[in-house]
Amino acid sequence: MSTRYVEHPFSGVRRRTRVVAVGDVAIGGTHPIRVQSMTTTNTLDTAGTADQVERLVAAGCEIVRITAPGRKEAENLGAIAAELRRRGISTPLVADIHFAPSAAMIAAEHVEKVRINPGNYADKKKFAVLEYSDAEYAEEIERVAERFRPLVRRCKELGRAMRIGTNHGSLSDRIMNRYGDTPAGMVESALEFLDVCEDEGFEDVIFSMKSSNAQVAIQAYRLLAARLAERAAAGRCGGQPFHLGVTEAGDGEDARIKSAIGIGSLLEDGIGDTIRVSLTEDPVKEVPVARALARRYDARFADEEAPERNADETTASRGGQETWLAAVDPYSYRRRAAREIACGGIALGAGREVRVEVDLGPVPADADAAAGELARSLAAQPDVVCEGVGVAASGDPGPLRIEPFAKALSMAGVEAPLVVSVPAAQAASLPACVGRIVVPLSEGIPEGDLSAAARAADALEAPLEWLVCGLDLEGLVDAALAAGAARPAFSVLDARPVPAVRRLDARPVPAVRRLDARPVHAVRRLVARLGEAGSDAPVILRHRSDPTADAESAILAAGTDLGAPLCDGVGDAIVLSGFGDPGRTVATGYRILQGARLRTTWTEFISCPSCGRTLFDLEETTARIKARTGHLDGVKIAIMGCIVNGPGEMADADFGYVGSGPASVNLYVGKELVERNVPTAESDDRLVELIRKHGRWVDPH
Ligand code: SF4
Repeated sequence: MSTRYVEHPFSGVRRRTRVVAVGDVAIGGTHPIRVQSMTTTNTLDTAGTADQVERLVAAGCEIVRITAPGRKEAENLGAIAAELRRRGISTPLVADIHFAPSAAMIAAEHVEKVRINPGNYADKKKFAVLEYSDAEYAEEIERVAERFRPLVRRCKELGRAMRIGTNHGSLSDRIMNRYGDTPAGMVESALEFLDVCEDEGFEDVIFSMKSSNAQVAIQAYRLLAARLAERAAAGRCGGQPFHLGVTEAGDGEDARIKSAIGIGSLLEDGIGDTIRVSLTEDPVKEVPVARALARRYDARFADEEAPERNADETTASRGGQETWLAAVDPYSYRRRAAREIACGGIALGAGREVRVEVDLGPVPADADAAAGELARSLAAQPDVVCEGVGVAASGDPGPLRIEPFAKALSMAGVEAPLVVSVPAAQAASLPACVGRIVVPLSEGIPEGDLSAAARAADALEAPLEWLVCGLDLEGLVDAALAAGAARPAFSVLDARPVPAVRRLDARPVPAVRRLDARPVHAVRRLVARLGEAGSDAPVILRHRSDPTADAESAILAAGTDLGAPLCDGVGDAIVLSGFGDPGRTVATGYRILQGARLRTTWTEFISCPSCGRTLFDLEETTARIKARTGHLDGVKIAIMGCIVNGPGEMADADFGYVGSGPASVNLYVGKELVERNVPTAESDDRLVELIRKHGRWVDPH
């Protein structure tokens, strides 16, 4: 593809879009990122649905979606809208339509936006394998277009907006047979519908490309951005805003992390105009999570300095951007090739699993107490293994405390290698027990100190991680490479602005270039510079939690800052710090790797957020099934509220538990329905039996 998905990968300039009005809420252009959610009440329950909308609006939700499974529900949207207006609430409403063009036509009369799913609007979704000739395929598209056209015309007449919302799990049989369940299939499916809108002169369209797999969602949105840019460049309709989301994300910390990875990565690209975080929880809880994600980028997008800074970055690192874009495949996962280095007994790089380390800060004065505390904290997380313990040993007597601490760790049973951060000039004083040396790099560091650090690391046969902390990232990487350590690795952390800094080669650093709030972009620049220099040194991703952030925002920031590079195939280890309890910090690291689909530690739960179609209490059911199966490492279990969308949207789950009636469920193995209408009183046991029968069950420890 010749057109790029993003113009400025090092600065995240916001993708240019047209503005689409949804009632009196404008989406896209320079408007703030809008926060949405969806009701879970029965749409025929006017008062109950209005109550939930009212609660969502009070929490800060700007647009509310309500399911309209059939004509009766679509009709009742009018009553809900009237009730809300009576209560003084003018928040725009969106009708959620699957399989029912007639419901869409009715809903368009009552709400400000209609969401259709191109996978099932007028197309077949029966998991059938069919071969289409080109002529038959074109005929099918024409048939779908004819069914879709009346809705487009009515939305245009009434001034309604439309979301063409593709879901990875519910692509039509036709698209699946030609493209598979790929990002390309998702994009194609949406563009066929845009073609009809374009024919009718209707451009008030918003797109979504959701998946429960954050990697797939990122790739699909990027591909769509590139395809739309191509259309726009050819003078066609193509500047539509994007609604971001990771669907069926589940609940709790995992769901927040998965959403931060998917949504945050795209916002880092400058892609995204409205977001919904899907949680299998009370929908009101979705709003603060979405707000926290949006807040970070609203400030960035609205930064008045941005055009000047971005222009500077574009000029300063033009070559690097091209190297970055050539080095990563934005539309499918490809791990960056890195050489292997061994840190103590743990090897990283060379395609090995991404390692998880914790950084404790300054080396403890009371080695025995600190080691004991660390051992207890790690023991409380039996599912995960800490693969590196970081400490900082600057000044006096820092390095002298390393050996006693290493001994104390060993006595306490902590096997993880010791990763020691030390100023370059002190590297030579480190003892042989160090698994990896970390040397912070910033402007002004004497070149002689760099070579001395390289010699010290080589003498200990330890890897040397150059931690780039200065503004002149490219210059510092070059200087570190020139120092010539035998086992180099690189990381970037908090390159905060320093007044009047100068590059190593004495050229002034552009004053407007800042990396402090852009760790994702800094990692991209690092990888580009390593690529330009022909270096395959491993890249270590470091994240230090902001001590002023609340717990939820801290998790979201870690999810984005680590998850975005990981989904780009970058990162051989992740190092977390500042979260408090080290065991839980390590577990969070593993959760991020699982959310990015790079290292599976626990059962993966794919559960829908529930809606007016839901046939049981999804939150309670999910909690119950988690309690029974949460120890099954690597097994994917979907818990879905209805058989209308559930089977399609449970994506690549190994087993599915899908509501089929008020007190019954259907059980699936992959996409195959194997047990129908199982009474809910027996359903948990039957699911466990099914898992056992397929050889995936192990007894809990
Ligand atoms: S799968 Fe869940 S969220 Fe999707 S339509 Fe069914 S009940 Fe609603």
